[in-house]
Amino acid sequence: MSQHRITQAIRIRTDRTEEKEHSSPLFLTSSFCFDDAEEMRAAFADETDANIYSRFSNPSVQEFVDRMCALEGAEAGFATASGMSAIVASFLSFLKKGDHLLSCSSIFGSTHTIITKYLPKFGIEYTYVPAGDQKAWEAAIRPNTKMIYLETPTNPGLELIDLEIAGQLARKYKLILNVDNCFATPIGQLPIQYGADLVVHSATKWLDGQGRVLGGVVVGKKELIHEIYLFCRSTGPSLSPFNAWVLSRSLETLDVRMERHSSNALYIAQKLEGHAAIARLKYPFLPSHPQHDIAKKQMLNGGGIISFDLKGGLEAGRQFLNKLNMLSKTANLGDTRSIASHPASTTHAKLTPEERAAVGITPGLIRISVGLEHRDDILQDILQALK
Ligand SMILES: *Cc1c(COP(=O)(O)O)cnc(C)c1O
Repeated sequence: MSQHRITQAIRIRTDRTEEKEHSSPLFLTSSFCFDDAEEMRAAFADETDANIYSRFSNPSVQEFVDRMCALEGAEAGFATASGMSAIVASFLSFLKKGDHLLSCSSIFGSTHTIITKYLPKFGIEYTYVPAGDQKAWEAAIRPNTKMIYLETPTNPGLELIDLEIAGQLARKYKLILNVDNCFATPIGQLPIQYGADLVVHSATKWLDGQGRVLGGVVVGKKELIHEIYLFCRSTGPSLSPFNAWVLSRSLETLDVRMERHSSNALYIAQKLEGHAAIARLKYPFLPSHPQHDIAKKQMLNGGGIISFDLKGGLEAGRQFLNKLNMLSKTANLGDTRSIASHPASTTHAKLTPEERAAVGITPGLIRISVGLEHRDDILQDILQALK
């Protein structure tokens, strides 16, 4: 097999069947058969790696996992039904009563709910530090801190966290560094190179990239992934073989898609910067991004997400959405079709204005997930809606 991870993501596959099909077969089966009692006994005793039951092993799912491991440079992985089930598994496999989790408030909304509402039910404590305040992370570490969990770039504020510093902290205090790499994808950023022990993904976003299926995956150190495997084997948040088959095909085009998403996004960000209706525009690969130095150090491209703050506030945000002709108005991101969202009136509407401010969401904040349409069509639709 080639050393190039892009080739591996295309060429790694399950064994061909007798039909010698070119595309990978889809193993839609809940269980697998054995020829005799001895073969069955050995499989259940973990003496062989034979497939037993699709809650914990299936060749279609394994192909997706193997490709993700190649892309992220990881030793092992486990795939789940959604990004959230991957994140929950990465918490509950390691955190127990009395442990402390260190994170920042500008994380995905449902992850925030897990950390603040559900983990405390099991006696798991947490501290949120401001994402961009590097000193705050170390100052918040306690004797019972077990894990650092972070997202970079953050959603939707596009704040960046220095992965090298996070990796050094994790090593110094012997913590598990767990990184949600959903926004950057392995094409844009490789957290394991900076010392991440676990990388979690919502495969629903850029990895599928076509808005078709839900999925999630955790990759990382072999011994940690084994714990996640044992947790998921019992609790059952497994990825369906069908979704895995779809996602596996998607990974074959991830590199070319992310290259175009990023170049479209950079072009549009450059053209919109300084527009009269926009107070502040953020894109990691623009020199105006407050943490551009971190972006240049750890990101291979700027990604497909742009955010900007409309001077007119909440009402301007609503009007902007109403005036769009082409861009989709939906809560998702990471699709071939460009998407606009207005967090203050939708995904984050239930928060108080203070809570929104704390996670970097101003009343006029717009998030654009830049698609694969012609870049001038995307730009023109945004420009006419800004009028
Ligand atoms: C969407 C998302 C998730 C959750 O993924 P699902 O597949 O919707 O469960 C987690 N993290 C980030 C950054 C996301 O954007």
